[in-house]
Amino acid sequence: MSLVYVLLGPPGCGKGTQTAMLKTKLSSVASISTGDMLRASISKGDNLGLKIKSVVESGHLVSDDLMLNVVRQSIEEAVNNQLSVILLDGYPRTLVQGQQMDSILSDMKDKASFAGAINFGINHEILIKRLSGRWICKNCGAIFNEYYKAPIKEGVCDICSSPLFKRKDDNADVVESRLKVYEENTFPLIKFYQDKNCLYSVDAEKSEEDLAQDIINILKKR
Ligand SMILES: [Zn+2]
Repeated sequence: MSLVYVLLGPPGCGKGTQTAMLKTKLSSVASISTGDMLRASISKGDNLGLKIKSVVESGHLVSDDLMLNVVRQSIEEAVNNQLSVILLDGYPRTLVQGQQMDSILSDMKDKASFAGAINFGINHEILIKRLSGRWICKNCGAIFNEYYKAPIKEGVCDICSSPLFKRKDDNADVVESRLKVYEENTFPLIKFYQDKNCLYSVDAEKSEEDLAQDIINILKKR
């Protein structure tokens, strides 16, 4: 039996870092992000993969129904690989998707079951600094932050001395509107999990190590 957890949190809250850490700290954990799922489906080249490919290539959003099929496939795969914990990152994002996922999991009742949603709580000002302060080295991939981890010399990579760049969607206004969209979509979903008594909250302002430990403690409850 695999236990499925949904990770909820705004862009920049550190979900990706945490799933990577949890996979090294725990055995038998699968983390599935929306992007990974879509890429895996496309590379399979089956019927579903071809449909996804044409939607993605046309620049449209993948519909809820298609996404649900992709998620179902990814969960089944993790179940077949006998992974006991499945962390979903980036799905579901809306109440409709949350309800749809409930129904596929109830179809899989001997193999996988929903175990809870883990909500990454973080102050907005901190998030905006984390995202809008980010500078990236295109040459070696190093990431700096003017507020938290500034390079020794402004605008220059400490590691390879190449110039640093800012991503277009990392400016404060864009970050703020991304957060707003996230909240509007996710608030009903958070309420949905709260009403089902399966919402866990973690403090995403903690250090990476402490946060990972908090999540491990939640996973150990089951
Ligand atoms: Zn560099």
